[in-house]
Amino acid sequence: MTFQSKTGAMNIFNLIKSLCLLWTKLRILKPSNTNRAWAEIDLSALKHNVEVFQGLLPAECKLMAVVKANAYGHGDIIVAKALNKLGVFAFAVATLEEGIHLRKNGIKGEILILGYTDPCNADCLVRYKLTQAVIDQQYANLLDKNEKKIKVHLKIDTGMHRIGIDYSDISQIESVFKLKNLRVEGMFTHLCVSDSLADKDVSYTDIQIKRFFEVVDILKSKNYDAGKLHIQATYGVLNYSGLPCDYARLGLGLYGLLSTNGRTRVEPDLQPVLSVRARISTVRQIKAGESVSYGREFIAKDDFKTATVAIGYADGIPRNYSGADAYVLLHSKKAPILGRICMDQLIIDATHIEKAMPGDIVTIIGCDGNEIVRGEDVADKCGTITNELLSRLSNRLNRVVIKG
Ligand SMILES: *Cc1c(COP(=O)(O)O)cnc(C)c1O
Repeated sequence: MTFQSKTGAMNIFNLIKSLCLLWTKLRILKPSNTNRAWAEIDLSALKHNVEVFQGLLPAECKLMAVVKANAYGHGDIIVAKALNKLGVFAFAVATLEEGIHLRKNGIKGEILILGYTDPCNADCLVRYKLTQAVIDQQYANLLDKNEKKIKVHLKIDTGMHRIGIDYSDISQIESVFKLKNLRVEGMFTHLCVSDSLADKDVSYTDIQIKRFFEVVDILKSKNYDAGKLHIQATYGVLNYSGLPCDYARLGLGLYGLLSTNGRTRVEPDLQPVLSVRARISTVRQIKAGESVSYGREFIAKDDFKTATVAIGYADGIPRNYSGADAYVLLHSKKAPILGRICMDQLIIDATHIEKAMPGDIVTIIGCDGNEIVRGEDVADKCGTITNELLSRLSNRLNRVVIKG
């Protein structure tokens, strides 16, 4: 009897204990989001850039914020929510899943899918109120087989030769307007050399723009309503800002960066939205002649103090940034990356940084004191453009919102 009631009490005790443990696991034991490596998202910089672009564009031309690829690595929901608050109600994504993700998180406004969606998923377009780019006539016909009305923007190929109906094929373009289940709400094209100010590239872009507006005029003369017109991405705005469009599809520029270090016709003061930071895990002494990291590519000429940083190529810091005259910032000083970047860690020279300690914050992209590592320079040293660098920042980096 006593024995039995004792086990009963034990069972209840154990149950409470397990529930407490579960509660702890679910609620309390959440690591801080600056635990190891993270990306800081500066929403004041985003606001600044939105205002800069609104100032550059004609009053009737609105921003269509391109938030594909997790908003170029910035966090699509963080960015799109902030933009909704700033009065931006048009978005572009690359995929159906990206569009659904925005809707499920309450993002308001038009969401255009710039790329391919399998026509068998047309129901999702309707259900989540997404607008699909029409890739060509064959695609339009397949999409039209759906019973419900689908909103589309018609893509016109004016010379990029990627997707879109050829500008000269007016009968194909017209045929899309006649499909009973497609509602054409816009028409757009994409420029392929608008970033270059070389004469031949400027004339090519001028031709692309001319071809697009020719199609617009022909459609008007035939009483078709092409809806919202849009041509420019970031470089289109910076080099051809005055076009009479309804939208500019802005990606990179909104994030405060350019693809490379080249010149543009207007050079507004944009502020980078993202910084990448990580913590030092350990500081150690390396003797002259000893090597650092895989492959023993770096051999110390003198005695060295190194610091190991908890970030690597699985976080999106390209492996080929190693040995590219690459450095990070620590206590507002430059600290060169030594040897090969590993999957989850990299090692820096901290010989000249007396204060270096485990737990210290290292800046891989961004500002620290008077020093800055620009995204454009990192991309350049990696032999790529910022678009690729940013869009490949991994989900393992926590996104931490700051406000200037
Ligand atoms: C990605 C993309 C954009 C945005 O380009 P940015 O140069 O980042 O501004 C615009 N239009 C299309 C069709 C795109 O694929």
